[in-house]
Amino acid sequence: MRSAMLKIKRIDHVAVAVEDVDAALAKWRDAFGLEPTVREVVASQKTEAVLLPVGESNIELISPKGNEGLAKFLEKRGPGIHHIAIEVEGIEAAIALLESLGVPMIDKTPRKGARGHKVAFVHPKGTGGVLVELVEEDHAHD
Ligand code: ZN
Repeated sequence: MRSAMLKIKRIDHVAVAVEDVDAALAKWRDAFGLEPTVREVVASQKTEAVLLPVGESNIELISPKGNEGLAKFLEKRGPGIHHIAIEVEGIEAAIALLESLGVPMIDKTPRKGARGHKVAFVHPKGTGGVLVELVEEDHAHD
């Protein structure tokens, strides 16, 4: 039995890797009528990110702005779903819990993501091939 549980709130976003944010934005707007709420260059991740709200979650379009991993992903696989982000309560505790369960973490401490949120990536080896991002709103920032 697991003694501790992750405090999961929702799927915060599903991220789609794109070459050209404007072209992708036009497609999502024309097809689904989605309008962006946030568009920013995320310096710490070396990406440009656009958020399109879908109910309580978002589609996040991301393109590399110096992020080699993301550039390689696009080169190898072309545009498509890149990762799923799960909003958790207590991201540090969530990382510690996953590590205690032997789940490999890419980030052992949270980094700053889009919207100033705290984020940490779980290695796809730990999830059967899906890159998972943990997200928590950073109440301490700004
Ligand atoms: Zn993300």
